[in-house]
Amino acid sequence: MDALSSQALVAGYRCAIVAAQRLRRFFPLNMTAAGTVPPAEVVVLGAGVAGLQAIATAKRLGAVVRAYDVRAAAAEEIRSMGAVAIELDLDTLEGTGGYAREMTEDRAERQRELLAPYIAAADALITTAAVPGRAAAPRLVTADMVEAMKPGSVVIDLAAESGGNVEGSVAGSVVQVGGAQIWGASNVPSQMPGPASKLYAQNLVNIVTLMTGEDGFAPDFDDEIVAGTCVTHAGEVTHQPTAEALEARA
Ligand code: NAD
Repeated sequence: MDALSSQALVAGYRCAIVAAQRLRRFFPLNMTAAGTVPPAEVVVLGAGVAGLQAIATAKRLGAVVRAYDVRAAAAEEIRSMGAVAIELDLDTLEGTGGYAREMTEDRAERQRELLAPYIAAADALITTAAVPGRAAAPRLVTADMVEAMKPGSVVIDLAAESGGNVEGSVAGSVVQVGGAQIWGASNVPSQMPGPASKLYAQNLVNIVTLMTGEDGFAPDFDDEIVAGTCVTHAGEVTHQPTAEALEARA
């Protein structure tokens, strides 16, 4: 039923493919009679559903992948995908349900300082960080950090539509910052419409099935998912958007 997860899977895969396509070098190591070409170095920030899929895809293409996420469980999840977990001298940030919590500005500043050398060394940077319930994406990378990257580097900002993890990214556009290009994501699942629609359709089938009994439509409002997704029922508005959601929409 989890449409966010199914679409994040598609988006994460696509981000790694776009990075590989835009980077003017090999992802894998090549050892040939004409010489050795080292593998591309990929850094992924945010290792949720999309980030883990980006890691897995970049690994399959042969890149050396390093990744960072604020959640305590993330390091092990990153390693399980075959990537190196970047360990920073910072506390983990856990919110409810094992999801991330928002950073203070001090912590954000320190995180950026500690990540800067990893980003400067990367050929491709993929950012996928989000905080549940927050309309604005956390700012993980400044324009100065992008400018410190090597000429020809590629930055993929999956959070571009919600303000961007990377300063200067524009959703749906490619922006040049120093020698690097920033690809700002826009409705990425639509770039792989077949699998995105197939998975989303199954999400819908599953939720409609949950709300259907032998005699047809029979939502059980004691069910957490039914109660949480209902907007209006029997003439009553049951779900009010939060002030933050209204502001984001405006
Ligand atoms: P999300 O889209 O809310 O956020 C993406 C990632 O960004 C998260 O991993 C989050 O920790 C990270 N992040 C937030 N702030 C950050 C910062 N300042 N720096 C670096 N990273 C930052 O998350 P998501 O994709 O929904 O996944 C979150 C977790 O929930 C994952 O462990 C995922 O596997 C899990 N999950 C499980 C299920 C399931 O079991 N069915 C479904 C969805 C998600």
